[in-house]
Amino acid sequence: MKWPLSKKMENYLITCDIHKDETITALCNSHSELCCSSCVELNHSQCSKVTPINELTDMQPTDLQGLSVELETVLGEIKSLQISQELSVQALLRKYKEHGAVMIEQMRGNLNFNIDDIDECGNSYVSTSGGHEQYLKEEMCRSVLFILNEFDNITVKELNEMRDEVISIKGSITSSIHKCTSLHNDLSHFHEFVQKIGDNKELCLIASIKGKHIIQQALTLLGKSGKAFNVQSNTKHNVRIPSDSYNCIISGICVLTDGQVLVVDWKNQNVKLLNQQYQVVSHWDVNARPVDICLITPSEVAVAVNDHDSKIHEVQFITVNQGKLVSGRKFQLQHECTCITHHQGDLFVTSGQELYKYSLNGKLIYRLYQYRSADLTVYKCAVSPTGDRLYIINYRQHKLLTLARDGTLLATYTDPALGPLSGLHVTPAGQVLVCGWPNTVQQVGWEGESKLANLATQKDGVLYPESVCYCSTTSSIIVGQRLDDNILVFRVE
Ligand SMILES: [Zn+2]
Ligand SMILES: [Zn+2]
Repeated sequence: MKWPLSKKMENYLITCDIHKDETITALCNSHSELCCSSCVELNHSQCSKVTPINELTDMQPTDLQGLSVELETVLGEIKSLQISQELSVQALLRKYKEHGAVMIEQMRGNLNFNIDDIDECGNSYVSTSGGHEQYLKEEMCRSVLFILNEFDNITVKELNEMRDEVISIKGSITSSIHKCTSLHNDLSHFHEFVQKIGDNKELCLIASIKGKHIIQQALTLLGKSGKAFNVQSNTKHNVRIPSDSYNCIISGICVLTDGQVLVVDWKNQNVKLLNQQYQVVSHWDVNARPVDICLITPSEVAVAVNDHDSKIHEVQFITVNQGKLVSGRKFQLQHECTCITHHQGDLFVTSGQELYKYSLNGKLIYRLYQYRSADLTVYKCAVSPTGDRLYIINYRQHKLLTLARDGTLLATYTDPALGPLSGLHVTPAGQVLVCGWPNTVQQVGWEGESKLANLATQKDGVLYPESVCYCSTTSSIIVGQRLDDNILVFRVE
């Protein structure tokens, strides 16, 4: 038996989202937004097609059955996302605690080792007696204390750094969990409405439009936004600095939450901080080739550094502090690295032929994927916003691969227009951006199966793109290129 929609639910449906004391009266087709009379007057007076709701009901039948099924599916996915994020928080805290325990254990071991050392030396010296031996003993104590202090300082500094990261990452996961909870509530309400709504055509239409809106929000949170970008304008910005000896090769880009941009210059071996106007305000010189960069917290990044000849393969953490770049801890890799990306405390690093997963403290968790038939087959990687999909570009064979969390291959995408794939990025809504040589920037659907949009080509200044990144703050796509001092910035909608 169906219970009718209560007055309260009906009010919830027909109330304008922005003007809480007004009733929805029309739909703006240009914005596909439901409007009350204030909305129409304030925001849609210039819009060409604003139709009163009662006129619309005759035109389009509302598929409530379909909407109900869609709501159920998305509800389930949001619930799983919430659960997986709660597990992520637990795993993050557990790993941090484990790391702390290991460090303390190491410090204890060192302490014992040094004390044993003093005892042994001390005993042998005392037995021969004399002032010189006493002096040696004191000297040794001093140096041991110095070593211990130093060890202590470094360890404590690193643990503090990591604690701040864990707190920040935990905060961002928690806020995402809250979004899940609130969307889950909205979706459940709508699911209930749809069951009880009866045959009032206007209510059905409003419920269907509002319901679809909420489903869209949920899909964005799930990283399944199918929205294609539309390029509005493009500009270029010079990022070369006086100390640079060569034309820049911008092999990696990342954006801070406030809209500042960090780029790594492979050729000139530095990391550059750009302000919101894309001017270089600071830089940090690297001891080898920086290949890529990723965001760890709103003020910290990790840079993958690689030098084949001098066998340097490491991950260097850098903090952005009041317009300055300050180096933090680093850890070594046992393989070459071509790319680094971060998701909720997990670091993903590619070697050219393999994809590895590391924890924040530099502990190798496992190898997720390998493809050894040629070089640069696992060139760069990116993670979907929820962590359930990984994307890899195969430079050599011009392919974009989509993998499940465990490394299982889900999809392969290739397009003759792309050529060798050189840059890859996934936006917070799950939009996949790839660039290919010599001059293509494309958007591929989140499933990794089909093209959604051609974003830029040679006529827009694209020539041997190396890296791509999306900035939500400014709604822009930033492209770094090979032997080009300019970065390209595309405003998108
Ligand atoms: Zn309104
Ligand atoms: Zn409008």
